[in-house]
Amino acid sequence: MNILEAKNLNKYFYDPKKFKALDNLDLTIEKGDFVSITGKSGSGKSTLLYLLSTMDTDFEGSININGSEMQGRNNSWLADFRNKHIGFVFQFHFLLPEFSVLKNVMLPGLKRAAFPPQELEQKAMDLLKLLDVQDQALKRASLLSGGQQQRVAIARALINDPLILMGDEPTGNLDSKNTGLVFDLFKKLSAEQHQTMLIVTHDEEFAKNTDKTIHISDGRIS
Ligand code: ADP
Ligand code: MG
Repeated sequence: MNILEAKNLNKYFYDPKKFKALDNLDLTIEKGDFVSITGKSGSGKSTLLYLLSTMDTDFEGSININGSEMQGRNNSWLADFRNKHIGFVFQFHFLLPEFSVLKNVMLPGLKRAAFPPQELEQKAMDLLKLLDVQDQALKRASLLSGGQQQRVAIARALINDPLILMGDEPTGNLDSKNTGLVFDLFKKLSAEQHQTMLIVTHDEEFAKNTDKTIHISDGRIS
């Protein structure tokens, strides 16, 4: 079953002059797929991921996620859809530094209000355990190391059981040890939880470990 289908995606930037950043892209992602997106710097990887995650709404073409069309939706509908169905991990973790680790992970769930707070707290603790940072739960986020903070960011991205977990170079700020830990974790999420994932990386070794690689060059799939 396709969980995401994108057709005829075109994306233009107009600054400083009209430039076609994505050129007639088609792609599908099946439920449970672990997909990597690779390509040179400037090839359009982030641009594509921002479209597919519904964060950028200014594009031509169609993006259908789990049977819903994203094109033409208003911002509040998309924000709600994103919170429910898409987990996103950036290169930088963007945790709230003064909040506890646990609170950071719970926040998207509190916003959604699908579970009572106690249940949500248990879920957050389970995720922190999965990511091996459970002993940091009550610390302020700013006190953790870079690698730990990124693992907390992944837990936060998973709190609402997203249909798809997306990452834009999620190991880009990490040293090789933490990069290895995070890659192992993605593999575990794929193998044990069948989490559908779409991860931008320029690590070709990592890409080889995924089910499918989409290679982008000059805004096209090649
Ligand atoms: P990648 O993530 O593969 O390194 P990007 O998707 O960030 O590449 O960028 C693709 C192309 O689009 C690049 O040429 C970049 O300069 C251009 N671009 C990205 N964002 C903008 C923007 N906001 N305005 C103008 N050009 C942009
Ligand atoms: Mg990028």
